[in-house]
Amino acid sequence: MNALWVAPVMPDYDSARATFSWRRERSRLAGLPDGGINIGYEAVDRHLREGHGERAALRCIARDGSTQTVTFTRLAAESSRFAHVLETLGIERGERVFTLLGRRFELYSTVLGTLRAGRVLCPLFTAFGPEPVALRMELGNARALVTTRELYERKVAPVRSRLPHLRHVLLLDPGADPPPDTLSLPALTSAAPVEYTVGPTDPAEPALLHFTSGTTGTPKGAIHVHEAVLAHHVTAAYALDLHEGDVFWCTADPGWVTGMSYGIVAPLTHGVTTVVDEGDFAPARWYGILADQHVTVWYTAPTALRMLMRAAPRSGDATPATRHDLSALRFVASVGEPLNPEAVHWGREALGLPVHDTWWQTETGAIMIANFAADPVRPGSMGRPLPGIEAAVLACGEDGRALVTGGRVQSLQEPGAQGELALRAGWPSMFRGYLHEPSRYEACFADGWYMTGDLVSRDADGWYWFVGRADDVIKSAGHLIGPFEVESALMEHPAVAEAGVIGRPDPLAGAIVKAFVLPRPEYPPGTSLQREIMAFARRRLGPAVAPREIEFVEDLPHTRSGKVMRRLLKARELGLPEGDVSTLETPEPAGTAGMSGKEP
Ligand code: ATP
Ligand code: MG
Repeated sequence: MNALWVAPVMPDYDSARATFSWRRERSRLAGLPDGGINIGYEAVDRHLREGHGERAALRCIARDGSTQTVTFTRLAAESSRFAHVLETLGIERGERVFTLLGRRFELYSTVLGTLRAGRVLCPLFTAFGPEPVALRMELGNARALVTTRELYERKVAPVRSRLPHLRHVLLLDPGADPPPDTLSLPALTSAAPVEYTVGPTDPAEPALLHFTSGTTGTPKGAIHVHEAVLAHHVTAAYALDLHEGDVFWCTADPGWVTGMSYGIVAPLTHGVTTVVDEGDFAPARWYGILADQHVTVWYTAPTALRMLMRAAPRSGDATPATRHDLSALRFVASVGEPLNPEAVHWGREALGLPVHDTWWQTETGAIMIANFAADPVRPGSMGRPLPGIEAAVLACGEDGRALVTGGRVQSLQEPGAQGELALRAGWPSMFRGYLHEPSRYEACFADGWYMTGDLVSRDADGWYWFVGRADDVIKSAGHLIGPFEVESALMEHPAVAEAGVIGRPDPLAGAIVKAFVLPRPEYPPGTSLQREIMAFARRRLGPAVAPREIEFVEDLPHTRSGKVMRRLLKARELGLPEGDVSTLETPEPAGTAGMSGKEP
């Protein structure tokens, strides 16, 4: 190791917060010559300007395991070509370019070319069927789409007539006899120059459109702007402990905001090497990547961790860390769903590291609350607000949403009090609108706060604890029960791999707690196991909170971003219409599953 290299020291939480200001942090960005900010410029151009063009930006792993290293210079060249193509095709600044691409190099060159050219990017999951693809492209007024021939023929061609605004479909692999009304991307890019100068970009100019996961209803289109990159960059340092020289792997698909903010933007702005895996979830593949690529910082999701836990031997047996050399791994974090304490303990045992929970939303654009990198993890807590973020717990009404009286809200100070999590509006990656829904956007704000729709409590030390989404909270015999607490307790039982908890309407209690349980493979489901888990839960939670009913299932419905869709469990239980299920993870042919994937 270079003798001059000194390991960066993370400031402790209190001093980091005390000295933080977004204005000062702005000096971390390169910035455009005229003072503007462009995400693509921060991710690509600055590294060339600073003489780091030959550093490895990406390590792309194909399905067959073959690996390709891409330097910042090559990323700059290919994204420049794409930026020129957009201009040649007459796509205007601010118009939207959609991607329907797997996790591969061309996705990165398309995203960065679009951002550098000041066009707006909207990523789609490749596992979406034709309906969700059409719906999102219609809503987003897609002008151009970049995809593969196979995906185009299966998912877009059948709905193309509904998309009159879609002027150009660019195929990576058009083949000898391309489908009508498509263009060959390689033919266009090969004729384009490898240099591109990023034009003036206003920090408040739209850059990205992201649809939410649709866990609680129809997905909403959240609009993000270029200055969001400041939050991506800063939060990756504070919450993910990302530093020069790291090898970073974010397992989220870029169809979801995590895959964009932390799979593409943040690590590139830090100039670290990003692992890009085209393959699907499989425990052996994932442990192999962590070991072979010497991943130092790993960002994943509770569903994936739970699947690894399910596949891994339990304590006492050889751990994956002994079968794979995970010694390079320094930091592990998770997002998307509550992280059960069980998963934090498992991380310590199997990976040799605790898992740091981080909380944020499509709307917040970047991590807001986290188990700070320099602090010990508190299992079960989502952590504390990051420097630059002010959070509050707001008093709620019957519906579990903050009470707004005469435009004012009431912030709860009592430790342990439950209420809606709110964030002081104004951080750089805050969404700037819901597409076509201005009043829905307005309704998210009151008294200077953005109201998140999640219920939390805060302890005396200022740590936040997730209770549930306002929509999922169960009111049973006068108690307000968060499904997370019940699911976490169930998961402590050795037979339980995963659990989803809902309130089933009941004439006496209002609702009773019902749990859907996915058992570990070595525990045959049956009435005696059911009784045992029920008794276990009653001991842990008390009779008022423990589930009154347990049903074993072979699978739980997840969104493609890996969240348990409790509203779907409930609709099925009650025989109600399933509502919008466009983001439901469904068994797809190999190669199309999202991050939450299926076990092979
Ligand atoms: P929709 O808004 O369409 O219903 P969604 O809220 O699931 O979908 P996302 O923006 O992808 O869409 O997810 C954000 C939500 O995920 C948060 O509001 C929260 O409920 C949940 N979440 C994210 N991280 C955590 C975490 N660390 N702990 C608990 N919940 C989390
Ligand atoms: Mg949401």
